[in-house]
Amino acid sequence: MIPVNEPLLDGNEKKYVLECLETAWISSEGPMIKKFEDEFSRYIGTKHGIAVCNGTAALEVALFAAGIQENDEVILPSFTIISCALAILRLGAKPVLVDVEPDTWNMQVHAIESKITSKTKAIMPVHIYGHPVDMDPVLELARKHGLLVIEDAAEVHGAEYKGRKCGSMGHLSCFSFYANKIVTTGEGGMVLTDDDAMAARARSYRNLCFQEKERFCHEELGYNFRMTNIQAAIGVAQLEQIEKRIVFKRKMGQCYREALAKIPGIQTQVEKPWAKTVYWMYAIQLSPTLGQNARQVMQKLKEAGIATRPFFRGLHSQPALNRRGLFIGEKYPVTEQAYTYGFYLPSGMTLTESQVHIVCQNLEKILLNHG
Ligand SMILES: *Cc1c(COP(=O)(O)O)cnc(C)c1O
Repeated sequence: MIPVNEPLLDGNEKKYVLECLETAWISSEGPMIKKFEDEFSRYIGTKHGIAVCNGTAALEVALFAAGIQENDEVILPSFTIISCALAILRLGAKPVLVDVEPDTWNMQVHAIESKITSKTKAIMPVHIYGHPVDMDPVLELARKHGLLVIEDAAEVHGAEYKGRKCGSMGHLSCFSFYANKIVTTGEGGMVLTDDDAMAARARSYRNLCFQEKERFCHEELGYNFRMTNIQAAIGVAQLEQIEKRIVFKRKMGQCYREALAKIPGIQTQVEKPWAKTVYWMYAIQLSPTLGQNARQVMQKLKEAGIATRPFFRGLHSQPALNRRGLFIGEKYPVTEQAYTYGFYLPSGMTLTESQVHIVCQNLEKILLNHG
């Protein structure tokens, strides 16, 4: 079986983890946390990094740090992971959706303004599958309307927009270090910001809102979203190799693009002229004229020993959200089309060039043999 992803731990991971064990620094009180926060935030280009236990928590921490409260509205794409909506709902705020572009599956920035109301407090662009959102119009809109921008950069470690790193452009940004992300700590996440006050709020929320003056007196309700020193140790080792990882991903992307160009009816994620994409996952969308949807083709690939993953189901059609009265009757046709016909191919750090060719040959056979 060619897996969708397999984490690669070929640097100093073992050495640094052993250091944690030998020194008994195994909780979130340990020197690796600050080192990872400092090095990752420096790499992305922000003043502060606040490490947390996963990317979903990072989103919630960022929204809290931004001061998002009950009845506020946050605008985000319909095509994204549930984590984004969860974070908004946990703070009592309301997610408001815009559809995505058919060639990048990133949010339609021109559709944002019509969704802004007197309750809107923030825009949450989600950089999808390694490709940046067109950020300048988002930042411009935010300035014009006095909104905050919170980037979900969980899929774009090292990607760039007009030479600026994803995760460095919003007031806050969030990363995930889950095992399939470009830099991993197994489970983990980080909030980045240049703002001192927001950083302090994020640190507080991550750690039960303990107070300096009187530790066990709580003015606000926080969580335990702390990362362990052991996780951070893995992250420090991964970060030492990030440039190599990005070169690998871009080469993989080019290899797929060239091999898939010969197969009619397959749309790949376009790399915009202003983007440096990092191909977190190599995503494709089938043309309906091929007569098969994503699930049918994925099943046949599975039978050929090739693992894939479906695209996100739109937030507007999540039963758990509809049951709360959200998005009833709203339509996001590009998201629907992507959900029906899109999936991603094996894209891990251990994938070989010959495996890319096996995947593409099988895909071609499956598409051509149909009907
Ligand atoms: C992975 C991911 C998350 C959530 O990260 P976890 O660490 O799995 O909680 C959030 N947003 C996006 C876009 C992701 O891809």
